[in-house]
Amino acid sequence: AFTAAEAAAWIRRAAELVSADADRLTRLDAAIGDGDHGLNLDRGFAAAVEALPGGVPPGRVLIAAGRAIVSKTGGASGPLYGTALRRAGKALGDTEEASAAQLGEALTAAVTGIRELGGAQPGDKTMLDALTPAAEAFAASAEQGVPAAARAALEAAEQGAEATVPLVARKGRASYLGERSAGHLDPGAASSVLLLRALADVTA
Ligand code: ADP
Ligand code: MG
Ligand code: MG
Repeated sequence: AFTAAEAAAWIRRAAELVSADADRLTRLDAAIGDGDHGLNLDRGFAAAVEALPGGVPPGRVLIAAGRAIVSKTGGASGPLYGTALRRAGKALGDTEEASAAQLGEALTAAVTGIRELGGAQPGDKTMLDALTPAAEAFAASAEQGVPAAARAALEAAEQGAEATVPLVARKGRASYLGERSAGHLDPGAASSVLLLRALADVTA
């Protein structure tokens, strides 16, 4: 099961991992974007930690974090990650303890939110290349419970992120580089791995 305490711990752990890797994310973005991805997310997740509410169900925790990220994060990634968390929170509804299957549905809703807002598809060299297989792996492993599903999702995200290296970007700033975007890891796919790692860490 996935509780409000775990939802809040997820956001706190994500903020820690993003902060620890902010320089790496920014370097990845400097190679094929404008070099602000680590800074954007560090600011956004710090704001999300500040905004974490107490005494509400896990879905409400994620909605509050998503709102803070939308309002405090610059760049394309802020609205995309913020929307993802809000959609995940809405999908959980007011349940106090979400089952693994419900959390899988929430992650799928988050991915759908990113696709609707950004118009990207898997293969476009974006965060979706890590998040789409991660949500699928989570849902497919939900029968084994949250910890195992979160581990499977992390593994899928890592593979999906690594697979962005040879791709040519078709969405976001990296797409301005055309063929020259190939040969680099997508920064948003790299940060998505951190978010899945945070989920695996706090549910283990
Ligand atoms: P910006 O490009 O505005 O500076 P960031 O550097 O914070 O924003 O985030 C860049 C990341 O956002 C990219 O690496 C990519 O993964 C993701 N991204 C950009 N545009 C889209 C989109 N339309 N759909 C999904 N992800 C996107
Ligand atoms: Mg950028
Ligand atoms: Mg920017």
